[in-house]
Amino acid sequence: MTAKLISGIEIAKEIREELTAEVAELKEKHSIVPGLVTILVGEDPASQSYVAAKNKTAHALGIHSEQVTLDPETSEEDLVKLVGKYNNDPKVNGILVQLPLPKHINEANILLAIDPNKDVDGFHPVNVGKMVLGEQCFLPCTPHGILEMLTRSGVETSGAEVVIIGRSNIVGKPIANLMLQKRDAGNATVTLCHTRTKDMAAHCRRADIIIAAVGVPKMVTADMVKKGAAIIDVGVNRIGKASNGKAILAGDVDFDAVKEIASCITPVPGGVGPMTITMLMKNTVQAAKMAAGLV
Ligand code: NAP
Repeated sequence: MTAKLISGIEIAKEIREELTAEVAELKEKHSIVPGLVTILVGEDPASQSYVAAKNKTAHALGIHSEQVTLDPETSEEDLVKLVGKYNNDPKVNGILVQLPLPKHINEANILLAIDPNKDVDGFHPVNVGKMVLGEQCFLPCTPHGILEMLTRSGVETSGAEVVIIGRSNIVGKPIANLMLQKRDAGNATVTLCHTRTKDMAAHCRRADIIIAAVGVPKMVTADMVKKGAAIIDVGVNRIGKASNGKAILAGDVDFDAVKEIASCITPVPGGVGPMTITMLMKNTVQAAKMAAGLV
């Protein structure tokens, strides 16, 4: 069996087309241009490229986007002040502070400083709480993207056994929570695995859906996968450098072997990654509609 490929590139393209039309309509009918500001502290190359990709995507969709790059020595107090400035700027609907922050800045304090109505990353405790309660809120972008991928590729989640590997605040915990809720791409029976899990392979072998968000290359091997399971690979691991200097990436799943057993599978790259930025754009458009009282 060769699994159907769930292409994040294709699904993200579909959603971006929908968003482009939505942004154009907001402008035409309501004179609204959604606004996003990204704040980067320091010069970490990976963070720089993530922020650049976010701004490029925003521009392509017609979203107004500003990129602020701050000195690595910027104090927590100054960063809180800057966030406060954008909280009060009506042109800005979404504020994204790129993580990780330098060690001298307390991340939790910064996330708390963002107006929950502009928290398009969905990391503010108010949005996390609402998510857990199943209330309307900004969903964190990677889990939100996974839900869209499952829905749009027709993977049945209701009643499914879902095994998630990894319990981070940005992927594992929220996706586990969302998939057990009574909602689209929900109603699943969820098992969350981590480093203290005994016999993870046994959990995986009974899963209808495996979501791997670990950061260990090719950790999910073919012998851990039930025939016909759906596989979502969140992992992005740099496993070498190509002759052109570009990083060679691998997911958390042994793609070549697992695709012979699974019914569908996301590739790395080109799977969950493109969905994450797209859902940030969706949240920004949602924030603009909320600010205008349209939703
Ligand atoms: P994280 O914060 O580093 O958490 C990793 C989780 O995996 C932890 O809960 C850890 O367990 C668990 N884990 C690590 N090794 C394990 C093992 N051998 N067996 C079982 N569990 C193990 O990671 P993250 O931020 O969620 O990211 C995970 C991966 O997804 C990374 O490769 C990251 O680059 C990628 N990612 C991709 C996107 C995207 O848009 N494509 C977005 C976010 C993350 P403990 O809690 O017990 O330590």
